[in-house]
Amino acid sequence: NNRDMKQSVILYPSAGIGHVIPMAELAKVFINHGFDVTMVIVPPFSGQFKRVAAATPSISFHVLPPDVPPPSMSSRRTSHHLTTSPAPAPASTVTLHAEDPATHLHSLVIDMFCADAIDVAARLGVPVYTFALSSASALAVLTQIPALLATSQTGLKELGDRPLEFLGVPPMPASHLIAELLEHPEEELCKTMASIFRRGMDTRGVLVNTFQSLEIRALQALSDPQCVLGKVLPPIYCVGPLVGNSARDPRARADERHECLRWLDAQPERSVVFLCFGSMGVFSQEQLKEIATGLDMSGHRFLWVVRRPASSIYDPKRFLGQQPKLDLDAVLPEGFLERARGRGLVVRSWAPQVEVLQHPATGSFATHCGWNSMLEGVMAGVPMLCWQLYAEQKMNKVFMTQDMGVGVEMEGYQTGFVKAEVVEGKVGLVITQIFCVFKKKKAGDGI
Ligand code: UDP
Repeated sequence: NNRDMKQSVILYPSAGIGHVIPMAELAKVFINHGFDVTMVIVPPFSGQFKRVAAATPSISFHVLPPDVPPPSMSSRRTSHHLTTSPAPAPASTVTLHAEDPATHLHSLVIDMFCADAIDVAARLGVPVYTFALSSASALAVLTQIPALLATSQTGLKELGDRPLEFLGVPPMPASHLIAELLEHPEEELCKTMASIFRRGMDTRGVLVNTFQSLEIRALQALSDPQCVLGKVLPPIYCVGPLVGNSARDPRARADERHECLRWLDAQPERSVVFLCFGSMGVFSQEQLKEIATGLDMSGHRFLWVVRRPASSIYDPKRFLGQQPKLDLDAVLPEGFLERARGRGLVVRSWAPQVEVLQHPATGSFATHCGWNSMLEGVMAGVPMLCWQLYAEQKMNKVFMTQDMGVGVEMEGYQTGFVKAEVVEGKVGLVITQIFCVFKKKKAGDGI
């Protein structure tokens, strides 16, 4: 009798630590409800995966052999990679678990890019659910895109910044949609992306890492029969906010806390702007120098996660394997680190973001608008500076600034270059004025 057996769930995120971290948080929910959880890890996985694995020993990780090509060098090939490479692996994983006499495989939870596993699970009679990688608002837009594409002869790129009306979200400039969807509807890239989303919604239910009061209009739209992909959508379940510390090893001793947390301990309350641009965000060297100059000019305290400069997230140089330690003096303006001593801290490549955001000294957050980062910022109650870089982040910026009221936009992102004066001005704005409003609101001033 299945009911008396231990129930297990397979979680199947696509490659990318930004996909693995929220799935690990979801895993904890299942584990707390008595399920066994196996998470399939698709190569290439970043070194950060080791942190997640160490922080969540209750999850069994099934790491796939690295027989798929390394990360693609262009967004075109990335889509191809996402749609094709993970297919064979879940077949064996799902079969293994489905046939395990000790447990009953209750369900498979996939992310949008792993829809190929739906067929495997269907063959074995295992229910499949989708874990949306982003917000309910982004989902609302994506479900309405096919109807829009069907009426477009030319592709949405032609519409430029013209605002598009979608149910449940503020007017959305066409240019802010996911880049692949802006291609001509007959272009393979556009068709592939649209079909990934269509397919990803073809499951028993869609789990969204959000909560009602944050996205009430979008959630209502998703239950509206008009907001469809030409069919009735599956039920949408709000399972958020799943914001945790999946990347923190609970066995780490207090004195092993990251140096940036110890540095924050010595800063005044709510005085530091934290700049961190997701697991993949990169800037050109010129842009890095401009940010540094802006921070210099602002005079405010800052904590900045800096990566090796690159032309884009798909820059081939990023995938050259082991690289020497990043020389900060070589990529930042001369004397910057010296001038910033005491007032600012630069961290190479990765910081414990959730802990930083929840630290009392953190007063604002310059973010690339990845959905996990946004939720983490909202839950920490810090005003955000939106500097969107890739994927659905431009849409997230619109939701953050025009609907949720949790951030302001960093002007210049449209041209691909943000000037030092803008960095200076916006950092000052969020750390002084906007934060005051937050504080008064908290104190019940009724603003
Ligand atoms: N993150 C972190 N430290 C870093 C950079 C990123 O802990 O230095 C975490 C961040 O807290 C979030 C995830 O990585 O949970 C990034 O996810 P998000 O959706 O914001 O962006 P993505 O990296 O997927 O673009």
